[in-house]
Amino acid sequence: MFHHLIASFLPHLPKKFIWLFSRRYISGVNLEDAVKTALQLHPAGAWTTIDRLGEFITCMKQAEESRDAYMTIIDRFGIENLNVTYSLKPSGFGLLIDFEACYELIRQVVMKAHDGNQLVRIDMEDSACVDREIELYRRLHAEFPGNTGIAIQSYLRRTANDLKEVAEWHTSESPVNIRLCKGIYNESEKIAYKRPEEINRRYLADLEFLLNRGIYTAIATHDKELVNGAFGLIDKYQLSPTQYEFQMLYGVSPDLRTAIIEKGHHLRVYVPYGEEWFGYSTRRLKENPEMVKHIIKAMFVRA
Ligand SMILES: Cc1cc2nc3c(=O)[nH]c(=O)nc-3n(C[C@H](O)[C@H](O)[C@H](O)COP(=O)(O)OP(=O)(O)OC[C@H]3O[C@@H](n4cnc5c(N)ncnc54)[C@H](O)[C@@H]3O)c2cc1C
Repeated sequence: MFHHLIASFLPHLPKKFIWLFSRRYISGVNLEDAVKTALQLHPAGAWTTIDRLGEFITCMKQAEESRDAYMTIIDRFGIENLNVTYSLKPSGFGLLIDFEACYELIRQVVMKAHDGNQLVRIDMEDSACVDREIELYRRLHAEFPGNTGIAIQSYLRRTANDLKEVAEWHTSESPVNIRLCKGIYNESEKIAYKRPEEINRRYLADLEFLLNRGIYTAIATHDKELVNGAFGLIDKYQLSPTQYEFQMLYGVSPDLRTAIIEKGHHLRVYVPYGEEWFGYSTRRLKENPEMVKHIIKAMFVRA
């Protein structure tokens, strides 16, 4: 209740004040801020995935701007010697306005990544987008299997079935690439598991399903219980670090990040940037008021 109250109040505060906590999670407003962050993370052994903020659009002209922006991002990172991938939210490409046009725009981005032998991952959004985003991935994977991946959310009740479907597309010539996360949107109990223990149990079951099938998995979590569970599965299936990676959000749990890298695992940091940082921050708060506790902490504790 307290978190809900604060979450609804924060968007009315001055932008400068919101930036005080957002800056911990967002690399900056411009592409060069994201480049700078990636270059800073690189010497510590962290790879990066770049996300341009701006998923809420109202017309396909804005979707074309998203496509153009990602083309520029890929060009810009192409001149750096970094291990980088790109993460995008299909709603920013018009997913909910015109599915076919959205697919075509994202396909152009993936084709460009393919030319540079890089990867574009489809972030998973709220439950209204899941069918469409899996369909996008099905098509893109069929054409560019090595250059595209998708995020899957363990809190969704449908996920075990979705993973079975996606695993059927996986072959050694056309490998599937999954980022497994808990899921961040505020879904109803009908759609999503709600109890933390249940979400964690589902997460580890989903992770075992993927790793057992040799599917490259990005283990996206800051939850120590899940990280330890992942270590156990990596041992159980005798996996080499080329078969998975860990992923964490920029600004979250840097100590855990260092500990994972020091153990010899690959780790990628999700680096968002963009002019839409204010809307992004306040929308994320409305979707998940529990974030308030992290924000309050971030105001006092420097990462
Ligand atoms: C790389 C990456 C990509 C993601 N992509 C998606 C996606 O495509 N779709 C989607 O729905 N969700 C995505 N998420 C978000 C994810 O679904 C979770 O909501 C988020 O990671 C928190 O879950 P957790 O596993 O870290 O566990 P939690 O139990 O939520 O967190 C574990 C601990 O991590 C710390 N922590 C977690 N989040 C924060 C924070 N924001 N600020 C400060 N501390 C924090 C806290 O100490 C907390 O106790 C992504 C997460 C990561 C790491």
